[in-house]
Amino acid sequence: MYSDRINSLPPYLFAAIDEGKKEAVRKGVDVIDIGVGDPDHPTPSHIVESLCEAARDASTHTYPSYTGLVTFREAASTWYSEHFGVNVEPLTEVLTLIGSKEGIAHAPLSFLNAGDIALVPDPAYPVYKVGTIFAGGTPYMMPLSKENGFLPDLQAIPKNIAKKARIMFLNYPNNPTSATADKSFYKEVVEFAAENHIIVLSDNAYSEITFDGYHAPSFLNVDGAIEVGIEFHSLSKTYNMTGWRIGFAVGNRDVLDGIGRIKTNIDSGAFEAVQRAGITAMSGSQDCIGNMRKIYMNRRDALVKGLHNIGIAVEPPKATFYIWAAVPEGYSSIEFSTLLLNEAGIVATPGVGFGECGEGYIRFALTQPVERIEEASKRMKQLKLD
Ligand SMILES: *Cc1c(COP(=O)(O)O)cnc(C)c1O
Repeated sequence: MYSDRINSLPPYLFAAIDEGKKEAVRKGVDVIDIGVGDPDHPTPSHIVESLCEAARDASTHTYPSYTGLVTFREAASTWYSEHFGVNVEPLTEVLTLIGSKEGIAHAPLSFLNAGDIALVPDPAYPVYKVGTIFAGGTPYMMPLSKENGFLPDLQAIPKNIAKKARIMFLNYPNNPTSATADKSFYKEVVEFAAENHIIVLSDNAYSEITFDGYHAPSFLNVDGAIEVGIEFHSLSKTYNMTGWRIGFAVGNRDVLDGIGRIKTNIDSGAFEAVQRAGITAMSGSQDCIGNMRKIYMNRRDALVKGLHNIGIAVEPPKATFYIWAAVPEGYSSIEFSTLLLNEAGIVATPGVGFGECGEGYIRFALTQPVERIEEASKRMKQLKLD
């Protein structure tokens, strides 16, 4: 019944984890879910109000424009300039997306012919690899190792692969490893991409979830970046808007035009009332970001301490709401996550779910209140690890 495309998909580990969680809940276990990367706090109320108002305006009820409201793209452009000091032209260098996942998944369709290579980090957000496969492309996995700060080693990519590659995905601050990239890394990327004619697709969904005074750069901060690529951005994590489906991409106009041409043939743009609420999010008070950072930072510190108490050492991450921890000796990532669920009622994500190179790690999401994280730590302390 299904296409080879669907049949070739790797088994969806996250669905299995969800099943395990439901089973535990059915059995009456008080489950602490720190598995999924979905903020537990609501969208700030001024953004919700703005949607309600916009939804009452019938002019938002028709098909939206394909490339997005001009006013939304202007707001995104201003936001980029305020947050990164990057200037992009609203009409040609900004594209509204129905959540950044939508743009990420569609991008390979714009640039890959059958068999063309996409450079994809491992471990990573699964959409990069799956989007490549759906477009008929061939993913070439770039291993991210602790030794290299979870940055891909561009020099380790064989010359013939680099020459044949058409696109490269990057994501810093990183999901799942919580690693960050600095401008010198992006500079290397721009040189590599220019030399090999590779389009860089940078995913900066976590740029605002930063701690201890760290400020995450944009890929576009580096000279020449706009010649070789774009950056995906999302309102999902910054403003607790995962359910709203609103994001955007900025950067190279030809690259954006390519993605836009796929999109006009598949979707019909983002609901204009949601775009108006997005404008409110980006142009209104940014105090909500500071509040969010404090909340995640307290949770981060609680979990780092809890893990330390069971002999798992992790450096407190500078960004993202994830903790990427090595699993105890003698366990695979799936074995350890199964143990956590069965013996402690804790849902966490086995690293292998993000790619082979994620084996040996487990990802915790800081999406529960401090009390629950402390409770999880207490339960972990009682585990009998062999
Ligand atoms: C959450 C997340 C996104 C955001 O996706 P949206 O579709 O905008 O909700 C993008 N990239 C990564 C790596 C993420 O973790």
